[in-house]
Amino acid sequence: MEDVIIIGAGPCGLSTAIELKKAGFNPLILEKGCITNSIYHFPLGMTFFSSPDKIEIGDIPFPTIHEKPTRTEGLTYYRRLVEHFGLRIHQYQPVEHIYVNPHHFEIWSTYRGKKQIFHSKYLVIATGYYGKPNLLNVPGENSPHVYHYFREAHPYAGRDVVVIGGKNSAVDTALELSYVRANVTMIYRRSSFQPSVKSWVKPLIEAAVQNGRVKMFWDTVIEEIQEDAVIVRHQGNKRKIPTEFVFAMTGYRPDTSLLQSAGVHFEPGSNVPIYTEYMETTVPNLYVAGVVICGKETSKVFIENGRLHGKQIVQGIKKKELV
Ligand SMILES: Cc1cc2nc3c(=O)[nH]c(=O)nc-3n(C[C@H](O)[C@H](O)[C@H](O)COP(=O)(O)OP(=O)(O)OC[C@H]3O[C@@H](n4cnc5c(N)ncnc54)[C@H](O)[C@@H]3O)c2cc1C
Repeated sequence: MEDVIIIGAGPCGLSTAIELKKAGFNPLILEKGCITNSIYHFPLGMTFFSSPDKIEIGDIPFPTIHEKPTRTEGLTYYRRLVEHFGLRIHQYQPVEHIYVNPHHFEIWSTYRGKKQIFHSKYLVIATGYYGKPNLLNVPGENSPHVYHYFREAHPYAGRDVVVIGGKNSAVDTALELSYVRANVTMIYRRSSFQPSVKSWVKPLIEAAVQNGRVKMFWDTVIEEIQEDAVIVRHQGNKRKIPTEFVFAMTGYRPDTSLLQSAGVHFEPGSNVPIYTEYMETTVPNLYVAGVVICGKETSKVFIENGRLHGKQIVQGIKKKELV
C-alpha cells in the first residue's frame, strides 16, 4: 500500500511529487508514456513562451542558453530533476480506472499488456490535457492525412497543406510549414488571430499572410474533409480547397474519465472538477493538480501556475495526517 500515488509525470505531477518528498512522503508516479510525455510530443522546434524561472519546479534553477527554453532544454531539465530528487516513476504505465474503497484507492493499470492494481491512501490526478484534441466533428476527420499534432515541417516541403485554427499551435505550425515552402492555407472561424498568440510571433504570421506565403481564410468553417480537399463555408458560400495534408490545430481538452470513474463531482454543465483550497475533490483524499482542473478553458492553467498546486496539496495532506 502506497501513501500517495500521482497519476501523470508532467511538470505539475512532478512538482507535486517533489513537494511531497520535501514533506517526508515518498510518492509513486504512474505515467502512461515517458517523463513529461506531453512536452516530449510537442513540435520538435518548439520554444516555451515562459522564461525559465517561471516553469522551474522544486526551487531548482533552470539554466538556458537563450531567453526562452527550448523543448529539448525542458526535457533535459525535468528529467534531471527526477534523478536529483530520486522520484519513483513507473513509465509506460497507463491508468485505466479508479475504485474508491472506504480507506484507500484501488488504481487499475496495465504495463506491457498485463493488468496491475496499485493501492494508495491518497491519490493525485495530474493527467493534463494534451491527450485529447478538440475535434471538429466533420466527415473525414478520422482520415490518415488529418493530424491534431505537429512534429516538424520537413515531410511537407512543397506540398499543399491546410492548417485549421488561429491560436499559437496553428500559427506556429503554419509558419514552420511556410519556411519549408509548403503551400500553406490557414482556415480560421474568426476574423483575426487570438490575442493569446505570442507577441513576438504575431508580426511574423501577419507578414506571411500579407505577402501571400500563407493564404488565409477568415470567418470560414470546415464542413468536410475529403481525400484531396477540404470543403469550407465562408459567408454562406461553399468552397473546395485542394490539399494533401490537414493539420487541425484546434486545441486540446482534459480527459476527465479517471475523475469520473472515481465519482468526482463537476461544476454544473462543465468538465471542471469541484475542488477545495487544498486541491481536494469531492472524493475525500483525491486531489487534482495542473491543467486537468481547467475544463474547456485550458489557457487558464499552465506550468507557471499549475506548478504551485503541489504545495497546496501537501498542506492539505499534512493537515489530515496531524489529526
Ligand atoms: C506547444 C506548447 C507550448 C507551451 N508552452 C508553455 C509555456 O511556455 N509555459 C507554460 O507555462 N505552459 C506552456 N504550455 C502549456 C503546458 O505545456 C501545460 O499547461 C502543461 O504541460 C500542463 O502540465 P500538467 O502536468 O498539468 O499536464 P501534462 O504536461 O500534460 O502532463 C500530464 C501527464 O499525464 C500523463 N497521463 C495522462 N493520462 C494518463 C493516464 N491515464 N495514466 C497515466 N498517465 C497519464 C500524460 O502522459 C502526461 O505525461 C505549452 C503548451 C503547448 C502545447
